[in-house]
Amino acid sequence: MSDDVNPFESLQEQVDDAAAYLDVPADVIERLKHPERVLETTLSVEMDDGSIELFEAFRSQFNGDRGPYKGGIRYHPGVTRDEVKALSGWMVYKCAVVDIPYGGGKGGIVLDPREYSTAELERITRSYAAELRPVIGPDTDIPAPDVNTGQREMNWIKDTYETLENTTAPGVVTGKAPDSGGSAGRVEATGRSVMLTAREAFDYLGKEIESATVAVQGYGNAGSVAAKLIDDLGANVVAVSDSSGAVYDPDGLDARAAKAHKNETGSLAGFAGAREELTNEELLTLDVDLLVPAALENAIDGDLAPDVGADIIVEAANGPLTPDADDVLTDRDVAVFPDVLANAGGVTVSYFEWVQNRQRFAWTEERVNDELERVITTAFDNLLAAHENRDLPNFRMAAYVVAIQRVAEAAEQGGIWP
Ligand code: NAD
Repeated sequence: MSDDVNPFESLQEQVDDAAAYLDVPADVIERLKHPERVLETTLSVEMDDGSIELFEAFRSQFNGDRGPYKGGIRYHPGVTRDEVKALSGWMVYKCAVVDIPYGGGKGGIVLDPREYSTAELERITRSYAAELRPVIGPDTDIPAPDVNTGQREMNWIKDTYETLENTTAPGVVTGKAPDSGGSAGRVEATGRSVMLTAREAFDYLGKEIESATVAVQGYGNAGSVAAKLIDDLGANVVAVSDSSGAVYDPDGLDARAAKAHKNETGSLAGFAGAREELTNEELLTLDVDLLVPAALENAIDGDLAPDVGADIIVEAANGPLTPDADDVLTDRDVAVFPDVLANAGGVTVSYFEWVQNRQRFAWTEERVNDELERVITTAFDNLLAAHENRDLPNFRMAAYVVAIQRVAEAAEQGGIWP
């Protein structure tokens, strides 16, 4: 993993690279490389022992030309202003790739949630929600879960917002628990779109996923669901990892049992259903048919990319490859299916949740999964068409070309005010 690469610079480079294939004015492209606004705030929160601790927190609203800002909230000690800006930009292009009517946003608090009690995390989250209140809302900016946040945090944010606004507004956040207005199928949505992308990718490349070997880096929400659903297609998940390291069995692992072990013990370490333990770097370089990076950004950099052993990469994490790594893998003919398509299931079902909240009408899980499959396979076909018709170097470029075209058209149609 590379800590040297600034993800915001990576995002800007990706936009510039795609712009070279588009007939969009340079000033419009320049606008699409910078967030519209970034809220930076210091939260003061009372700890269980009565002391006050300060937390640095952010919310970046990158672009709202296609609809309300939309994107997750991350709790991690490595959160930075530039990381949040980059992630909010990737949300703009992700929403445009799958053609849902949202712009992009992202938030984060610099903290390691393992160091705080549930009561402290609730106060931290409510304090953050109170700071966000003037800039979020069902028609303006709609947060969602990201790394180390989930239904619990979304329920707290919704409750704080509704209390302060003296209203009910379930559509202010997505990724809520079902009884608080969450959607059926939301928890599995990101892993499901990773599976759908992998399935379509193998089909397009004339390979059989039923006989594929698979390695998954990161075994949280995105990675573990992707592993389970890819396993259900008949593929052989041989290695999975989390921040404690990787477990490996060349004959295949039981993806569900590995998740149960992680739920019980807090990590994959010591999983009895594996034959060997590996480092994360060893997992990323395994000779497998499919690699799914599902941890954090910059997992594979230009130094590691020559050693990647997979033929196909489907990105579950946001920004897991540095631009250098992308160049190396393109030269090596490794087919990389980008985050903005592959993990877009999360935001797509968030969109379905928001639609259901606004209609006050809940869909069945079957309907959610069917609509998600339609959105992802349509987006996949549009991306392939761009790749073939414009002779683009890789699928990421195709995704950015499709997305930037859509956002640029909305930006140009709106014009500049005043
Ligand atoms: P999570 O917190 O549920 O899981 C993260 C996992 O990564 C954990 O298992 C953790 O141990 C592991 N990890 C952390 N550092 C690691 C390292 N160096 N090597 C190996 N594993 C490591 O988070 P998540 O929601 O699954 O998100 C993972 C990625 O997917 C992030 O990039 C996130 O932005 C992206 N994503 C998530 C969603 C979603 O709906 N959850 C949607 C879109 C994108």
